[in-house]
Amino acid sequence: MAKTFALQIVTPDRMVLQKDVDSVTATGVAGEFTALPYHVPFLAALSVGSLAYRENGRLNYVFVSGGFADVTAGKVLILAEAAELPEEIDIDRARKARERAEARLAATRQENIDYTRAKSALQRALTRMKLGNVPQAAGLGRP
Ligand code: ATP
Repeated sequence: MAKTFALQIVTPDRMVLQKDVDSVTATGVAGEFTALPYHVPFLAALSVGSLAYRENGRLNYVFVSGGFADVTAGKVLILAEAAELPEEIDIDRARKARERAEARLAATRQENIDYTRAKSALQRALTRMKLGNVPQAAGLGRP
């Protein structure tokens, strides 16, 4: 029996990652889930978060924001609104996005649509900053 399966992460712009992996853990809107080889098929809407995949026993991370995970027995296809490898993350850009989002949050009311958008932008910025700063080493906690 195969011990690995295909992980493919695509965005509207590009193919971000294509690998044979041991496991994938991602952040769905209903919570975190892990896919292993021969997983039962399911479809999950994705939230903002770090996707973790194990390759040859080693954990790696990818920033993923929105979209869907299509899990089948031999493949996990991530169709994300945005996704970046840690080394692709521009920390300075994320820091500026965080500052803009924080300023908007301070200026808007909670029930306002802009407030919800600013909260999501803040979440993306904070997750990018965390992921972009973490060395990719086995055994580290998930950012
Ligand atoms: P910003 O306000 O800086 O654009 P954002 O969270 O609104 O941030 P997104 O809508 O999530 O940006 O992404 C738009 C595009 O820009 C995507 O292609 C995404 O991969 C890329 N992107 C956004 N922020 C960064 C970053 N800090 N480093 C690298 N790529 C980024």
